[in-house]
Amino acid sequence: MQGSSELRAKLATACRLLYMEGLMDHAGLAGARIPETGNLLLNPREMRGTPGRHPGIMAGDDLVVVDPDGRKVEGRNNPPSETPIFTGVFRARPDVMAVFHLHLPTATLFSVVGKPILPIGVMGSPFGGAVPVCPDGTLIQRPEQGDGVARSLGKSLAVILQGHGAVIVGASVEEAFIASVLLEDNAVRQYRAAMIGTPQGMAREELDRAREQVWNPKVIAKMWTYYLLKGQSAGVVPAAARKTNPRRKAAKPQRKR
Ligand SMILES: [Zn+2]
Repeated sequence: MQGSSELRAKLATACRLLYMEGLMDHAGLAGARIPETGNLLLNPREMRGTPGRHPGIMAGDDLVVVDPDGRKVEGRNNPPSETPIFTGVFRARPDVMAVFHLHLPTATLFSVVGKPILPIGVMGSPFGGAVPVCPDGTLIQRPEQGDGVARSLGKSLAVILQGHGAVIVGASVEEAFIASVLLEDNAVRQYRAAMIGTPQGMAREELDRAREQVWNPKVIAKMWTYYLLKGQSAGVVPAAARKTNPRRKAAKPQRKR
């Protein structure tokens, strides 16, 4: 099977956690590049609401493997209809190892009214000055549309698909997951701020400093661990085996007779 069991488990866990956070439901897709082959691991069509199956119970072997052009290579399930999002973005961005496409409820609203999502606080700083918008408001089902999404994304961490959802990328599954959570969180805060005044984005210099502070592997790992533990407490992901005290585990030396 292509894709290490670790990568498969991580992507499946990310789906479960996005489900827990209300960011992935019958819509919403997740994909990772398989480093060994360059093929893509995607959550399949069948895991979004067929009897007994949905993203909240995703497992590593539910995932489907496609080649860089979106043709199925392996798996008992089928690639999603919006596979061109993944083939387009992964082709255009060699630095990206994970891509999520989510119908983020609040972040998407901003494109409907033509207002930019601004970095309104420290945790919104990873997205830079304003989140780009892809003008194609239909489902992304043809290769040229996927290329269009990649063009709108450019070098950014995320792009909003007009009135539809968002595409979020990362150098790892953990990074794309955390970016997804932060993008929606920033949009919710900006929306609330707009109820009581005019939201102001962070100024350039401050924004760069804040980004350095929060968008690094250490902070991303901390946030991923938080959501993983939250998922375990909620029973959304299997509880990790309890770590035993290594000193206690060490066998007593046997006395020679
Ligand atoms: Zn969609």
